[in-house]
Amino acid sequence: MADFPARFESTLLSWYSLAKRDLPWRKTTDPYKILVSEVMLQQTQVDRVIPKYGAFLHAFPTVQALADAPTGDVIRLWSGLGYNRRAVKLQECARAVAESHGGKFPQSVDGLKQLPGIGPYTAAAVMAFAFNKPEVVVDTNVRRVFFRLGIGSEREGLSEDLQGLIAGNVSQKCSRDYHNALMDFGATVCTARAPKCESCVFNKQCVSVKKYTKQQMEDVASRIFKTTQSKFEGSNRYYRSMILKEVQRKQGQLVEELAKVLSMQKTLSEQAPLPAVAQARSLVRQLEKDKLIAEKNGRVYLP
Ligand code: SF4
Repeated sequence: MADFPARFESTLLSWYSLAKRDLPWRKTTDPYKILVSEVMLQQTQVDRVIPKYGAFLHAFPTVQALADAPTGDVIRLWSGLGYNRRAVKLQECARAVAESHGGKFPQSVDGLKQLPGIGPYTAAAVMAFAFNKPEVVVDTNVRRVFFRLGIGSEREGLSEDLQGLIAGNVSQKCSRDYHNALMDFGATVCTARAPKCESCVFNKQCVSVKKYTKQQMEDVASRIFKTTQSKFEGSNRYYRSMILKEVQRKQGQLVEELAKVLSMQKTLSEQAPLPAVAQARSLVRQLEKDKLIAEKNGRVYLP
């Protein structure tokens, strides 16, 4: 197994402090509200859960309120999220907490797992997000991030080496933020289809970075090549158009990065001259003069 990034937790938490998603269940440590969000998120996407989560908690603000409600009302409020059986189970759980635990959730994975509808993942998630306990919470995002960062080739399931890696790195003191950060990182940076390796805080240490940056460069070059191949290939206009398209795709790139994209063209079309950084710089100046782009501190933007 390759070396895992040093200072993983502190780097991840620093990234999270700047990039975290604003999600309503992040604003509470009430285990009941955390549980509601976890159950809703099990099979439904975040965007669809957000309005439903607010409406559900407005109608049933406490575990007791949910326990006391007619089941038909609970299902009605759940409608639109799908898998309505989850609503029924959630209410059964609320009733068990209200009747057998005096309205208080157990503060252990084993205790939580005794409640109706709570499996190992949900129990660990409630322990981490409500009680800030160092439990291991592994969803598909977390699994993917650890595979890519520390193992390399992605495989199905939870292998022993992956489990060891995840458990060995779990935060002892900041479990809540650490797991939220991991989930955000997997959902917004190290995404399943197009990881943003260029801007990733781990790109100097990640064992998969070469694989994904090469793939991205090939995708960009192939897209540009396909859309610009014509009789003006190799002309000044051709390269100006290429730069402009690339800046439209991603603003704030360095001139050197734009030159790299242009250079990829040569591997696909040998007759095209290889544009150097100086040439890219000259193209950027021309485009800037025409007010089509703007350069600021060496980075190129649309005006
Ligand atoms: S460098 Fe790329 S593959 Fe590696 S963790 Fe970052 S986004 Fe994921």
